[in-house]
Amino acid sequence: MARKMLIDAEVSNSVEEEQYDFDLFVIGAGSGGVRASRTSAALGAKVAICELPFHPISSEVIGGVGGTCVIRGCVPKKILVYGASFAGEFEDARNFGWELNEKIDFNWKKLLHNKTQEILRLNGIYKRMLSNSGVKMFEGEGKVVGPHEVELTQLDGTKLSFSTKHILIATGSRAQRVPIPGQELAITSDEALSLEELPKRAVVLGGGYIAVEFASIWRGMGATVDLFYRKELPLRGFDDEMRNTVARNLEGRGIKLHPGATLKELIKTDEGIRVITDNGQELMADVVLFATGRAPNTKRVNLQAAGVELDRSGAVKVDEFSQTNIPSIWAVGDVTNRINLTPVALMEGSCFSKTVFGGQPTKPDYRDVPCAVFCIPPLSVVGLSEEQAVEGAKGDIVIFTSTFNPMKNTISGRQEKTMMKLIVDGETDKVLGASMCGPDAAEIMQGIAIAMKCGATKAQFDSTVGIHPSAAEEFVTMRTETRRIAAGSKPKTNL
Ligand code: NDP
Repeated sequence: MARKMLIDAEVSNSVEEEQYDFDLFVIGAGSGGVRASRTSAALGAKVAICELPFHPISSEVIGGVGGTCVIRGCVPKKILVYGASFAGEFEDARNFGWELNEKIDFNWKKLLHNKTQEILRLNGIYKRMLSNSGVKMFEGEGKVVGPHEVELTQLDGTKLSFSTKHILIATGSRAQRVPIPGQELAITSDEALSLEELPKRAVVLGGGYIAVEFASIWRGMGATVDLFYRKELPLRGFDDEMRNTVARNLEGRGIKLHPGATLKELIKTDEGIRVITDNGQELMADVVLFATGRAPNTKRVNLQAAGVELDRSGAVKVDEFSQTNIPSIWAVGDVTNRINLTPVALMEGSCFSKTVFGGQPTKPDYRDVPCAVFCIPPLSVVGLSEEQAVEGAKGDIVIFTSTFNPMKNTISGRQEKTMMKLIVDGETDKVLGASMCGPDAAEIMQGIAIAMKCGATKAQFDSTVGIHPSAAEEFVTMRTETRRIAAGSKPKTNL
């Protein structure tokens, strides 16, 4: 309540009697912006939101109601992952008795078309959700011109100005390019989702989420894939042992890994793109993907002119309630560069509404945020990695691992291990972290995340009856300690 009074005092101070066009103007209709608009409107606020329209194929125009997740991120990516996963399924089917004698064809254009149709459908649903919630939607680019003023440039170039009690910046992030000679020949994930032709030879630069996901997609669709990353293993920041499992599985699926390497130059030739690496290799590619991180979308929103502080990466600096240094201006989602995931932006959007319009100051809770990397097979984690748990631990950390051949592989013959891991506080028995690399990891980890949010102990995992036969039951049958790490020691992962 104290916080609510502070906000009201700061914002309304000398303008108590002033009338605004809106209570809230949201710039950016992605996951965070749409959620915040709808929940604020449901709490009685008069809300407007602006967003650019999008072209379903061309990636020239950024924008689109639904944002990165719906238009050029999670949703189209997952559709392509589903498409690519059939390749492995067809291979696995043979030993289950399926005769696949005829040549199996893959029609990329058909998948592309169906993917685009689905995105258009979702874009329509998002627009309808906004309008049904009473949110006024503007098509155009929004710019902050003062603590309570937004300028909107419409598609025909005409400008509109609005006054608003609060402004929410929810402009997301955009893919980064690497400044090497020939960089214009490379694409980012924006274009990768809508390529006219499926590449036969793909080179991917980066070791993060997008790099391993696209490597899996193109490999599944039959391309040769060379994946270059600077570190020894992909997916920096994840548990080292799990990173190693992902690397082995990517290799097992036929992706050529190039650890400790990067790209130096790209040259256009008649045969494709000649790729020159920093360790002197040369290879030819039809497509080169830069999957080298994303940067907050703050350049065109005029924030600095309005006095909003940005950090060194260009992200909007916010406090625990998503409020900037200008009391009437707030920010949620990737543009704040906290945890850049759709469900986190949704949480931040809901907390914003409760804080500003619900009389319930609410901080987003970043503990135990689960996530998944949709490489094939996927990795999913919640809580701490072994390295994070051991760092600064006051007592022993106990590690339980299970590496096994999933039942399906015993018949299909696929040589690919699933790995699961639990990280436990030796003193309290609380489960601090859980990870899985293997089929359906994301589906399984969501339930584990609930248990961890409830503070589950290893003893409670052990007392839970398994679902048999499933891979998931391994999480409740890991009885033997793999290792115990004394406080002050280093992680003992054998890679
Ligand atoms: P990430 O931050 O995950 O990874 C970026 C990768 O690019 C790292 O491997 C990094 O290497 C490498 N890199 C950065 N700069 C260079 C450079 N100059 N030369 C060579 N390599 C470079 O970014 P992504 O683009 O993969 O994804 C962006 C974000 O989007 C993710 O962090 C995630 O938050 C979100 N996302 C989530 C997904 C999901 O939930 N499934 C899917 C896709 C994206 P190094 O490690 O050496 O720094």
